[in-house]
Amino acid sequence: MTSVDTARVTPDRPRVQDAEGPGHTHCPYCALQCAMSVTPTAGRAAEVTPEWFPTNRGGLCRKGWTAGELLDHPDRLTTPLIRRDGRLEPCDWDTALDRVVDGIRRAQAAGGPDGVAVFGGGGLTNEKAYQLGKFTRLALGSRLIDYNGRWCMSSAAAAANRSFGLDRGLPFPVTDLSGARAVLLIGANPADTMPPFLQHLDTAAAAGGLIVADPRLSATARHALDGGGVHLRLRPGTDAALALGLLHLVVVTGAADTRYLAARTTGFEDAWAHAAAWLPERTERVTGVSVALLERAVRLLADARDAGAGSYILTARGAEQHADGTSVVGAVIALALALGLPGRPGTGYGTLTGQGNGQGGREHGQKADQLPGYRMITDPDARAHVAAVWGVDPEQIPGPGVSAFELLDSLGQPGGPTAMLLHASNPVVSAPDADRVAERLRALDTLVVADFVLSETAALADVVLPVSQWAEEEGTLTNLEGRVLRRRRSITPPDGARDELWIWHELARRLDRGPENFPTDPRVVFDELARASAGGKADYSAIDWDRLDAGEVLHWPCGSDSPDGTPRLFLDGFATADGRARFVVDAPRTPAEPTDAAFPLLATTGRLLAHYQSGAQTRRVGELAAAEPRMWVQVHPVVARAVGLADGDAARVVSRRGAVEAEVRCDEDMRSDTLFLPFHFAGSGRANLLTLPELDPHSRMPEFKVCAVRLEAA
Ligand code: SF4
Repeated sequence: MTSVDTARVTPDRPRVQDAEGPGHTHCPYCALQCAMSVTPTAGRAAEVTPEWFPTNRGGLCRKGWTAGELLDHPDRLTTPLIRRDGRLEPCDWDTALDRVVDGIRRAQAAGGPDGVAVFGGGGLTNEKAYQLGKFTRLALGSRLIDYNGRWCMSSAAAAANRSFGLDRGLPFPVTDLSGARAVLLIGANPADTMPPFLQHLDTAAAAGGLIVADPRLSATARHALDGGGVHLRLRPGTDAALALGLLHLVVVTGAADTRYLAARTTGFEDAWAHAAAWLPERTERVTGVSVALLERAVRLLADARDAGAGSYILTARGAEQHADGTSVVGAVIALALALGLPGRPGTGYGTLTGQGNGQGGREHGQKADQLPGYRMITDPDARAHVAAVWGVDPEQIPGPGVSAFELLDSLGQPGGPTAMLLHASNPVVSAPDADRVAERLRALDTLVVADFVLSETAALADVVLPVSQWAEEEGTLTNLEGRVLRRRRSITPPDGARDELWIWHELARRLDRGPENFPTDPRVVFDELARASAGGKADYSAIDWDRLDAGEVLHWPCGSDSPDGTPRLFLDGFATADGRARFVVDAPRTPAEPTDAAFPLLATTGRLLAHYQSGAQTRRVGELAAAEPRMWVQVHPVVARAVGLADGDAARVVSRRGAVEAEVRCDEDMRSDTLFLPFHFAGSGRANLLTLPELDPHSRMPEFKVCAVRLEAA
C-alpha cells in the first residue's frame, strides 16, 4: 500500500522565493505543476532539482524527481519513422513530411476537409493547443479536432459552466486550502496522483476534518482516517446519490445557508425536488455509506464554515468519469451551494485538474466545440473575433466537430476520416473500449503520431514524428488554479527531434496553406493567443512573457478589466447572466452497465503513485517501473477465494468488451462488490480493454469509472 510519507519527498535544499525566474521550469506531468530546475549532466540523466513554488512548496513526488531520465532515454525517438512493407523504418524529415502531406491530400480527395481528423492532448503547451486548433481549422479546413482532455475534465467543466457560467478547476489559489479545517474530496486521490498537494490539506487532516469519498480505501482515504477524518466508502457509480443525500442532510439539519441561497443562487427549489427524496436511510441503502458517516461529513463541513475556519469541497475524476458525470458534479456543486461555499473567501468548491496543462489545454481551441478564449465555436461573435485575429472570413472557420471517443470511433468508417494527426496522446491505452479504438486507428489510410517515444499508439502509425520534450521547449502552461506559468528550455533537444510548432509550419508550407500564419516562435504564438482570447471567458490578453518572466502571479481572466489577474473568482458574483449561481440537479441514475450473473462485479479504474496517465513515459523510468512493473487487480480476499484465486495469482478480469490479465492483490479493505484496476499498463494489462464508452450527454465523457466484470483464474 502506498505510503503517504514517502510520497511527499520534501527536499533539504535552500528555498528560493518563487520559482518563476530564469532557469526554473515545471514538472512535465500533472496539473500541480511543481517547480523544478533541470541541469544537464555528462553521462547521466539530467538532474532535477525541486524549487519552491506555492503549489508544491519545495516538494516533488517520485514522478517529478525521476523525470530527467526521459530526456536521454534509450527509447527516445530521434529520427522520423515511416511504415514500409508493414514495418516502421527510419527516414529523414523531408520524406516523412511528404508522406504526411500525401496522406492528407488522399484523405481530403476522398472525404473533403473532414477526411482528415486531429487529436490533441492536455499535455501540450498553451501555444501548441492554440496552434493545433488553428492549424486544423485553417490549414486543413477540418472541423474534426478533439483531445484527450475530453476524458479528463469535461464533466467538471460542463457542470461548472452550467452552474457558475465559467470553468476554472480551482477558482481560488491552492494555498487557500492550507488553513481549512474541513475538506471533502469526492473521487480524488491526491496522495497518489499529486502527493505534494497533501501539504495543503494538513490543517484539515490534523483537525479530523478530511473527508474522502472513494469506493476503496485509497492512500488519501487512509490519510484521512489516520487523522481522525472520514472515509465515505461508496458503491461505484453512486456519487450523485451520495451528493444528494448529503444535500438532503444539509437542509434538514438546518446547515443550509439560507441568506446565501437567497442572495447568490437560483433554482434551489428544483434541486430540492430531487434531494428531498434522498432520505439518509435511502442514501445509505444505495451508496453503502452509513447514515452516521453522512451526518458526520455534513457536520464537519458546516461547523468549519460557521467557525470561519475554512470549508471546501473538491471533486476529481472518480466523481466525473461517468456517463452522468456532469450530473454528478452538478449535484456536488448543489451541495456546495446549499452550504454557501462557492465565491467566498475561506470557503469554496473546485475540481482537481489532472494533466499538466489540463486547464490551458481546454481553453485555446483544441476542443471540438471551442475557439480560443474558451469561446464556443457556434457563437457568431466569437467566430467574428477569432476570425479577425486570424485574418480570415468567419465563414472559413468550420463548425463544431465531435467528441474524442466519437471521433476515434468514426475513423476509417464509411464517411469517416481516413487520415489522423495525433499529438501528445496514447489512446490505444487511454481510450475506453481500447481495442475497439485500436481497430479504428488501424483502419486509417494514414495515421501520423508525434511523440518522443514509440508509444502503443505510435507503434500503429504510418508516420511517427519525433518531437522535443518539456525541458527542451519554451512555452506556457496553466495550472490547476488557473495560474499561467512559464515552461523553460533547460536542455538542448537531441538532433532529429523537432518542435510541433515547426511541424505545423512545415505542413502548412507543403500544403500551400499560408505557413506565415503558423509561426514557430512560441512567444509570437502566445501573443496571438492572448489577442484571440481577449474578451473571452479565459481572457489572457493582459498577460505577456515579460510579465511571467518577471515572476508576476497571473491567474486568468487577465484582460483589460482585470490586468492584475483574478486569483479568486466569483467573489462579487458568478459569471452567469444574473450573477447568481444556478442549481442544476438531475435525477441520479444507476451505472450504465448493471451487474448480472455473468458479470457480477463492478470494476473501477484509477492511478498509481509511480505512473502517469497511459504510462508511456513513466513505464520507461527505471525507478518507477521497478516500483510498479505490471498490471494488478485489487480485490477482497473473499471474492478472490470464491474463484479459486489467492494473493499473487494470475487472474483475468473480463467485461463484455475484453479481458485483462492481472496479478491478484488481495485487500481486506476492498468492497466485496468492487475490483480496482490501475490504467497505466500496456498490452493485455490495459484496464481500458474493459471500460465502457457510454457517453455523458453533456460532456461526452465516457463511463470510465464503472463497468460490470467477472474475475477468473488466468
Ligand atoms: Fe508535482 Fe505532479 Fe510532477 Fe508529482 S507529477 S512532481 S505532484 S507536478
